[in-house]
Amino acid sequence: MRHGSRHPRGLSFSDLGLSPSLVRVLDERGYRTPTPVQTGAIPAVLAGRNVWAQAQTGSGKTAAFALPILQLLQEHPRESPRRTRALILAPTRELAVQIGESFRRYGQQLWHAVRVVTAYGGVSINPQMIALRGGADIVVATPGRLLDLVDHNALRLNAVSTLVLDEADRLFDLGFAEELGRILALLPAKRQNLLFSATYPEAVKTLADRLLHDPVRVEVATTELTAPDIRERAIEVDVPRRTQLLRHLIQTEGWSRVLVFVATKYATEHVAEKLRKVGLKAGALHGELSQGARTQALADFKEGKLTVLLATDLAARGLDIAELPVVVNFDLPRSTVDYTHRIGRTGRAGAQGMAVSFVSASTYAHFRLIEKRHEREVPREQVAGFEPVEIEPPAPPGAPPGAPAGGGVKGKRKSKKDKLREAAAQAAQASPPDTRSPAPGPRLPSAAPASGAAPLPAGYRWHRAQPGARWRG
Ligand code: AMP
Repeated sequence: MRHGSRHPRGLSFSDLGLSPSLVRVLDERGYRTPTPVQTGAIPAVLAGRNVWAQAQTGSGKTAAFALPILQLLQEHPRESPRRTRALILAPTRELAVQIGESFRRYGQQLWHAVRVVTAYGGVSINPQMIALRGGADIVVATPGRLLDLVDHNALRLNAVSTLVLDEADRLFDLGFAEELGRILALLPAKRQNLLFSATYPEAVKTLADRLLHDPVRVEVATTELTAPDIRERAIEVDVPRRTQLLRHLIQTEGWSRVLVFVATKYATEHVAEKLRKVGLKAGALHGELSQGARTQALADFKEGKLTVLLATDLAARGLDIAELPVVVNFDLPRSTVDYTHRIGRTGRAGAQGMAVSFVSASTYAHFRLIEKRHEREVPREQVAGFEPVEIEPPAPPGAPPGAPAGGGVKGKRKSKKDKLREAAAQAAQASPPDTRSPAPGPRLPSAAPASGAAPLPAGYRWHRAQPGARWRG
């Protein structure tokens, strides 16, 4: 049974079977129409079915499982002492916190009060143990900390009747496979399983096959997840000019709030500092900040005290920032799954969003792979005054000839086409650079070195365009 994009439109939350008290809360929050993932999942969860939903952040997936779970808990009021009946596993603390807050918000007017406890690592375990003392109907947790709590006898999982794996692909991405196995072994065999994932790598498929007996599949057409809500752009720019380009875009395009992804914690601080020096309100968010500092940076960003938030993938996982019009890939994500998650931060719940990727000579091939994996082509742009100068950085030491400096897509083996491209690049390198007549690549009029150009740094070489070929191969 499949739901989602083919499900009849125009249904209301009450049509899906939600109780008046839940519908009232949604109404107060301005939720009038269920999103496709909600239309598909809510009736199925209420009917006690297993659900396998393709849903990314921004699709309304949290409410898709939180609302029916709250209702099921109302229909079967708790026993005394309170036992944990719903367990939600999330890959990161930010996501866990947001899910916990959603449960509390949606559940605030319910007849039988529900207790929600959120648990995640990186902070002292004691307050979480104390919070669990009176029992909790719903526990939202990251896998490692959940096991620590079980080991401390702070909670028991033998009464869990509904299990949710949220962002299942990232649970595996972050290496939680073993913890998941241990947790599953602690749960009662008879239970309802709900799996939400933006992508379906092999590990997720295997888990779904194992866990989900006769599931209701909820699929949302890719077009509903991305286009037309998220406009993707790729801007060609040289690595050293990205910060200036970012500033230029913020100012000329009037970006009011922008989340910028960079590769390292150092870069978050460094770029934020440079932007502050030119008068922009910029902050950094990375995994080594204290929980307090992260919460503060996020709050400042949400309240508009910061225009730009520089973040690493890890720190930004699962962030729910309503009204985030622009996301920038200052550094490209290493994995294609991360690309999906990054751009999913914008264009939420029907709002328009924009995802801008900076592409330079050294990351061009990597971006092509991301496009290939997502089966789409993002038009390349250049911004006046920031046109790239075409140089290719040296391959890292020990890398095979022609290997991209920025590393390939994680787990991606070279395709025949990639190998051919490398061979062509090597052949081009074998002949001396043609300084007399710059190779006229259609998009790179200023790319080849003019005579008298400044010498290249050691290890760099001009990347010669093939006659008639485009720089992007
Ligand atoms: P999620 O995909 O669960 O992270 O939700 C994305 C955002 O959409 C959150 O800010 C939700 O509060 C909001 N949202 C969820 N469902 C709806 C709905 N049916 N109508 C309007 N906004 C919604």
